[in-house]
Amino acid sequence: MGNRCRSPAAGTDRNRYSVIRVSLAALVTIYLLLFLAIVFLLWILGEWSRRRRERRALQYRLRCVICAFEFDDRTDALLPRCPRCGSLNERFRMEQI
Ligand SMILES: [Zn+2]
Repeated sequence: MGNRCRSPAAGTDRNRYSVIRVSLAALVTIYLLLFLAIVFLLWILGEWSRRRRERRALQYRLRCVICAFEFDDRTDALLPRCPRCGSLNERFRMEQI
């Protein structure tokens, strides 16, 4: 128990200063990591919401197999009719560009 109860006079000014500097560096590192984590999280969230929005926008998007005309079809018909050439199209998910 004797060692731990040593008087604080043993620690010099320089020692205390270096301790503060080390903790400051650790603090800066923690802040930097936290900042990076927040930026990364925001980026992931933004990308995720963008993809979801894109998928929702493409949900009713169809491309005619005959004339390659792109049109929206919000009906639940099994074979939507192309408004340009009038041919029936199969409903398949449109690929992202
Ligand atoms: Zn067509």
